[in-house]
Amino acid sequence: MAAPLIELRSVGKSFKSADGTARAVLESVDFTLREGEIVALLGQSGSGKSTLLRLMAGLIPADHGQVLYRGMPLYGPADGISMVFQSFALFPWLTVQKNVELGLEARGVPPKERAERAEAAIELIGLAGFEGALPRELSGGMRQRVGIARALVLEPEVLLMDEAFSALDVLTGERLREDILDLWESRQLSTKAILVVSHNIEEAVMMADRVLVFASDPGRVRDELPIPLPRPRDEESGGVRSLIDSVYGLMTVGSQRHGRVSTTEVKLQLGDRLPEADVARIEGFLEVLVDEPFAGRADLPKIAEETGLSDHELLNVSKALTLLEFAVLEGGDIQLTPLGEHFVRAEQSEQHALFAQRVLDNVPLVAYIRQALERDPSGDLHEDLFLRLLRFTLNEEDAKTALRVAIEWGRFGNLFEYDYTTGIIHLQKDDEATLD
Ligand code: ADP
Ligand code: MG
Repeated sequence: MAAPLIELRSVGKSFKSADGTARAVLESVDFTLREGEIVALLGQSGSGKSTLLRLMAGLIPADHGQVLYRGMPLYGPADGISMVFQSFALFPWLTVQKNVELGLEARGVPPKERAERAEAAIELIGLAGFEGALPRELSGGMRQRVGIARALVLEPEVLLMDEAFSALDVLTGERLREDILDLWESRQLSTKAILVVSHNIEEAVMMADRVLVFASDPGRVRDELPIPLPRPRDEESGGVRSLIDSVYGLMTVGSQRHGRVSTTEVKLQLGDRLPEADVARIEGFLEVLVDEPFAGRADLPKIAEETGLSDHELLNVSKALTLLEFAVLEGGDIQLTPLGEHFVRAEQSEQHALFAQRVLDNVPLVAYIRQALERDPSGDLHEDLFLRLLRFTLNEEDAKTALRVAIEWGRFGNLFEYDYTTGIIHLQKDDEATLD
């Protein structure tokens, strides 16, 4: 594991409210920011995200617990930690150059070196030529670039960004975000770790190696989701979309539990369980269902008897069939859909292709694995990566089952291959024909 840069151990923080009583804003927050990672912190407004960042920057002390920077307690602002705020907080009477130089001046850097380092930071962030401009002469996006240059010029190890893109219009925010990721990926920054606070799920998923979901009242880390997709990421890709759905799910769970009507009406999330039903069982069941005496519609107990399945097995296979849209459940009966009928009567090769499409559309975990493989330069990934991801929402056994099912279904759809001995999931070598 990479070295911890900032560690929060059981951190609590209260503020006095207007009537003088203390209100806990943060409670038992544990979090470690490590070298080499970008972490996004998501949470509702007022959940204490900015407070957390200010604690990490050494701007305010914790009431309980510890804040450590490189293993040492943080007692005040540290040289290696810089923060970028949502409001640009530039001095309006100072030029871009002078705004950027300010922090260096405070640290006693001599004028010549100050000027050179500021120029370099301004150029890095794409503002070359605007050194002499005043903030009011710049667009919002450019002003925020100055804010970022002011943080980067200090060559921080840790960059804390508090909703740094939210005051900008969408396109400007995205462009700035991409530029920062480019600098990060091309290792042009001295920065070893970035924490971005955001209320934008897409932004978090596009940027971060892991996303922390913050709960309110009092603020604490409720969930954590790793984003093991290589950067740059395509925001329209299946992997990103399904992770966005998952984060969305994580953020709504607990606050509003209603909405989960039935498995057939609610789309699966990435970290959901998958019904334990292998393809052979699915096919065998469909064959019985399509034939006499059922002819496409069966009473569940009757078909259980006919197929010799236990209730548990029957439940799983019917869940799988509804999930894949091959059948629907209606008043204790299972009814084949036209798609299911087509599938069961199709040639082998068409079955694979149909299955692939159903699975990609309805099983985010499979779509996610496929996406991750496509985006990985080597085209192969170890199953543990996905198991770890599932362990955030499922217990060990359910996670293993979900992954086993996803791998089996994905293999049947020719979406990827799997090596049982090494646990490596990889793309097929001649992959063009299977998907388009
Ligand atoms: P977020 O950044 O998630 O929107 P903040 O950390 O800004 O949340 O604020 C969390 C809560 O703490 C809010 O209710 C806010 O009013 C309160 N708060 C923040 N700073 C102070 C302060 N200095 N004094 C009193 N209350 C504060
Ligand atoms: Mg805030």
